[in-house]
Amino acid sequence: MIYLIILAIVFIAILYFIKKAKAFTEASPSILKNYKDILLKEVDYYEQLPEDEKAQFEKRIHLFLNEKKITGVDVEADERTKVLVAASAVIPAFAFDDYNYPMIREVLLYSNTFDDSFLHPNREMKQDRISGMVGSGPLSQVVMLSKPDLISGFQSKKRHHNVGIHEFTHLLDKTDGVVDGVPEHLMEKKNIDPWLNEMHKEIQKIRAGASDISPYALTNDAEFLAVASEYFFVAPSEFKKKHPELLDYLQKIFKQEVSEEGVQPME
Ligand SMILES: [Zn+2]
Repeated sequence: MIYLIILAIVFIAILYFIKKAKAFTEASPSILKNYKDILLKEVDYYEQLPEDEKAQFEKRIHLFLNEKKITGVDVEADERTKVLVAASAVIPAFAFDDYNYPMIREVLLYSNTFDDSFLHPNREMKQDRISGMVGSGPLSQVVMLSKPDLISGFQSKKRHHNVGIHEFTHLLDKTDGVVDGVPEHLMEKKNIDPWLNEMHKEIQKIRAGASDISPYALTNDAEFLAVASEYFFVAPSEFKKKHPELLDYLQKIFKQEVSEEGVQPME
């Protein structure tokens, strides 16, 4: 009898995995066409990719949207917004084959900037203009984003901001366990100290008003990495021209290279 029960459990488990595995591959042509239309219109990074990489990008978008829940808290989570959330996740991780942020399960969207005091009830200073954050504690598997800020990140290159890419860069930084501006799993050991050096030199420049990197990067090393990465992916040519030393490290971290066309995975 016990064998029969075990057999039944194994059988159900196999069925479950087959069903799950199937869900990943089932991107119908019409779904892919829909992604393509949105990406071509809204995402410069996608537009500059060669055709075969574009197809790969669409698959990664599908994988993300299949596995992660995207919930509008007080705003609609429409198809376009969902694709932009997924694009924010795929862009910094595009060179890491099939990497799909196992540490998160849900993205929450808000109608505007939000207040995070529910996470820090004892903090004196109120922070109520947050456009995105990676959750902590009971919300550690959640990313929160302001929908209008997410969208505007894909619209203006001038500001070098993209809150979606910013938050997902924090998650890549977190793959070694800590969000500290040094994604050790993505770096060769010998590059860690020179990277910190280069970062701290640039921090001095920002302090002196001699850098076009947002002063938000002064918050700490983790924010420096996230802010510099937004700029790297949003305006790659400009970043290359103005920050050749930082460029070298970011290219190595993300395994992506800036060329005439834009930025894409290294060969
Ligand atoms: Zn941040």
